[in-house]
Amino acid sequence: MYKKILVALDFSPESEAVGRRAAELAEQCGARLSLIHVLEYLPMDLGDGMIPVEPMGFDEELEARARERMDELAAKLGLEAVRRRLEVGATRGEIVRAAEEEGADLIVVGSHDRHGLALLLGSTANSVLHHAPCDVLAVRLFDE
Ligand code: AMP
Repeated sequence: MYKKILVALDFSPESEAVGRRAAELAEQCGARLSLIHVLEYLPMDLGDGMIPVEPMGFDEELEARARERMDELAAKLGLEAVRRRLEVGATRGEIVRAAEEEGADLIVVGSHDRHGLALLLGSTANSVLHHAPCDVLAVRLFDE
């Protein structure tokens, strides 16, 4: 049985389904659940490799808005008491780092059917799976 579950939420319309699946699983296992959202830094190439750059307009207001959205989603899922993490950086790396820090034994992420450029760029689920220190559950999401 899982004891510490970390669910990654991107606030897309499907993230409610991802959160719900994680919440159900946590309840069944009696596991502690944590939510994570990452405010992504855009990598930029200045000729000497990729460096992390703050997105335009990144400021406290953006962070406050993300916290609000996380609170709203938690409330929708009946998870008001659950621990929330807002991290800034590269999504995949921050999810894995948070799982390590929390001692999570399961990470829950969403996974879309991918085509074209999205397929080439690869999914968050795939990247997390390859670097995670624990099990990963990819909740299948279907585009409308
Ligand atoms: P993707 O395939 O890259 O569109 O990402 C799908 C899943 O990755 C989402 O359902 C989330 O579980 C996770 N994810 C993507 N972006 C973020 C983010 N900024 N913060 C937290 N989780 C994210």
